[in-house]
Amino acid sequence: MTKGWSGWGAMAGLLLAVLFVTYTMAPEVRRASFWGDGWQEKPLVDRVSVLPADALPSLREGLSDHHFISKVVPARNAEYVIKDIQQAIEDVPQEVRDLVFDRLVGIYLVEGLAQSEHSDNLGMAFEVQGFWRQHVGTVILIDRNQTDQSANEAMAGMEYVPSQDYRGMAVAPRLARRGENDRVTTLRYVLLHEFGHLIDFERDIVSRWFSYDEAHADCAFACLSWINPQRHRYSRSLDAALDQVRSGNHDEYVRSLPDTFKHLENSNFPSLYATTMPAEDFAESFAMYVHTVLMRRPWELTLRQNGTIVSELGSCFTDGRCRDKRDYFDRFFAEARR
Ligand SMILES: [Zn+2]
Repeated sequence: MTKGWSGWGAMAGLLLAVLFVTYTMAPEVRRASFWGDGWQEKPLVDRVSVLPADALPSLREGLSDHHFISKVVPARNAEYVIKDIQQAIEDVPQEVRDLVFDRLVGIYLVEGLAQSEHSDNLGMAFEVQGFWRQHVGTVILIDRNQTDQSANEAMAGMEYVPSQDYRGMAVAPRLARRGENDRVTTLRYVLLHEFGHLIDFERDIVSRWFSYDEAHADCAFACLSWINPQRHRYSRSLDAALDQVRSGNHDEYVRSLPDTFKHLENSNFPSLYATTMPAEDFAESFAMYVHTVLMRRPWELTLRQNGTIVSELGSCFTDGRCRDKRDYFDRFFAEARR
């Protein structure tokens, strides 16, 4: 018996040692201790700032783990963007602010957040964990340069579509109401997307160990588009289209835009970007639901080929295209309100 106990003691000691090593091996910015706990008391608008310089080395290390080409630096001349982000936070519904309040460590402005040579990044979110690897919160990075554009222009970038005529193809994006086609709207949409990641990290909604062909008994949100072969709406054509973007094959991608739009129309994905990964599907769905259902703002992509409208894509949450996801978020917010 006693021997058994000392065996357990040794096991516990070993476990602690392993935890200690993995904790100290993680980039500092991913450790809760780096950020302290003062952030929990602050109003959300006071958690916005330029990335602190001492976070930079470990942030670069952390980003390269995620295959980012990291040329990230703290943003310069960002005072006006900080004000716009604060405005964007004040504009989102109170219930959304309540959802993120306990988990948003901070929003930091940077430059050079590109993931590859061919795609720019407006924002990203990463999880911060405690010593026991437990979830503590989420840090959001915003690329000042990429968000320094009108909301409709930014939407074209987020969806990888040409807003100006390119070889006869052009997509008119509309994310903003008349009079709101500004940086605040861009920042608000990007924040809503990153808040989606925050909620996913906190509640582990889309499993991080997700695998396409495995049956899951309880995969909740991910089941809606990604698993069930009968209802499997995930389109290889959409994936192939985005592969062309990633490899810089822009001509081919643009040529196949009418097909890509048709596939999207026949799917329950809210946007093209949502088809890239289950976690992006969740973040995009969250953002689009809040933007178009709770805030009643537009989300439209109109594709023209040689001046003729080929496709008009609206928010799947208001046009019935993703009824299952609409039900999911109706329930999600009904529970959050209780
Ligand atoms: Zn994302």
